[in-house]
Amino acid sequence: MTLLGILGGMSWESSAHLYALLNREVAARLGGLHSARLVMHSVDFAEIEAMQARGDWAAAARLLGEAGAGLKAAGAQALLLATNTMHKVADELQAQAGLPLLHIVDATGAALQAQGLRHVGLLATRYTMAADSFYQQRMARHGIELLTPPPEAAAEVHRIIYEELCRGQLSASSKAHYLACVAELAARGAEGVILGCTEVGLLLDDAAQALSPLPFFDSTVLQARAAVDWMLADAEIAPHGGKSQGELVPTQAAPTSGTQESTP
Ligand code: GLU
Repeated sequence: MTLLGILGGMSWESSAHLYALLNREVAARLGGLHSARLVMHSVDFAEIEAMQARGDWAAAARLLGEAGAGLKAAGAQALLLATNTMHKVADELQAQAGLPLLHIVDATGAALQAQGLRHVGLLATRYTMAADSFYQQRMARHGIELLTPPPEAAAEVHRIIYEELCRGQLSASSKAHYLACVAELAARGAEGVILGCTEVGLLLDDAAQALSPLPFFDSTVLQARAAVDWMLADAEIAPHGGKSQGELVPTQAAPTSGTQESTP
């Protein structure tokens, strides 16, 4: 099993969830006591958030690039960036770390393509949902057109992420707001909804999926699944198959269980 480096802590709430997903996915595929071979650098999210807020993405790229180089020195052979938003600096990060990144948009886009979806809603931070953002541009490569909530509703989605979800607070009123956004996106023709922030799946869980008119595509779950495809690609024991180490495009693996993409 290939050693994977994780840049986490953005926030640690979702990184803890990702850590569990990666280990459960490896155990589901290999059985017994198998677990994921990982090395993680977990940042102080307050520093990253301050850089985002003042628009200093170059400083954030340097911080993550240095952390990534440290993971390479520790033996990691590829990186997983445990946040959608910070993929804004994916290119700079990869260059500085000297390791390839398993891109979260590619993992999510491949799952949408596998389902034949083209018009999809997005719930994420304002950096990710911005018009013509890095996220929208990369998703277009997968033939996916994104719909975002109207400005006021989108601002509330963003506020809830930073003021509640990244602090471990899950409230019924915030869940209701997110579900109202999903209903509005469905009315505008969305065929599914990307949980395009790694904390959103903590709120929009299986119970919320049952109340939703659209299927959820949870970026954390899809990122974990694509990462395990890669980690096991050389083990010749991955039932879903995998790619060679040099080709870091996630496979369109079938879910290991459940029907929704939000179910690991
Ligand atoms: N975890 C979030 C994401 O996936 C937001 C926190 C961050 O800014 O990194 O975008």
